[in-house]
Amino acid sequence: MDIDALDKWKETILKDYPKLSLDDRIRFACHKGLECFNQCCADVNIFLTPYDILRMKRRLHMTSDEFLSRYTYAITLDNKGLPAVVLKMEEDERKTCPFVSADGCTIYDDRPWSCRMYPIGIASPDKNARGNREEFYFVVDQELPCHGFREEKEWTIREWKENQGADIYDSKGEIYKEVTLHEFFLRGNALTPEKRKMFYMACYNLDKFRRFLFESSFSRIFDIDKETMDRLGTDDDDLLDFAFRWIRFSIFGEGVLKVKERVLEEKRTELGLQ
Ligand code: SF4
Ligand code: SF4
Repeated sequence: MDIDALDKWKETILKDYPKLSLDDRIRFACHKGLECFNQCCADVNIFLTPYDILRMKRRLHMTSDEFLSRYTYAITLDNKGLPAVVLKMEEDERKTCPFVSADGCTIYDDRPWSCRMYPIGIASPDKNARGNREEFYFVVDQELPCHGFREEKEWTIREWKENQGADIYDSKGEIYKEVTLHEFFLRGNALTPEKRKMFYMACYNLDKFRRFLFESSFSRIFDIDKETMDRLGTDDDDLLDFAFRWIRFSIFGEGVLKVKERVLEEKRTELGLQ
């Protein structure tokens, strides 16, 4: 993947593409009868969000480890050391998506966010996730051989997103943005290799993150009630929300987790502070 080309594409979008809101309308439809059906499910760069991975590995009854090694590869996005995960295309001539079949997407209900949103993208000139982050929608390049733009059906972007089930992905995506666009990076910091590994595990390898919580000294050190720990042991959605909290604590130094008083006392004694 050419990261420079990706950056240039983002610049072009910010500069040249019409900025659309949720109430703007698009003319588009995608269905099996179209000549181009399935053509777009090949040779495409699909970045997977943590929630995409959660949904896909659950759909495929795989562990995160199995899913990540079979279907993805990791890249570092920029000089901040941020790891990102990309869906691996098959090694055939067309570089087909591993999930496409003659009838369409075999994981349709759990397809990634960017597949749901197509032909709509989101861009922002604002690099900060906090506060009133300015974002706009845009329609991807219509020069692709996509016949969907010739169809009669009209939608507002709001209707399109609702129809595609994007809302839950958006709300999980907002929490993800809080860590990828954290002020830690805006202050010019980059992840060390150890922090990069931690970030990757917490965001993308949820089963490994669960083992980290339950098989390390985590529960001896942190003040987390039993009910929460029970949920983290069984519920991937809750675990993912907690993983973002862990990143904010362990990587960005935010006070979002409480260390047990007994552990603090032991530490004070060890340091001769009492
Ligand atoms: S209409 Fe566009 S999105 Fe749908 S199958 Fe054809 S190329 Fe893909
Ligand atoms: S995940 Fe599904 S919708 Fe997305 S590219 Fe692959 S086959 Fe197409």
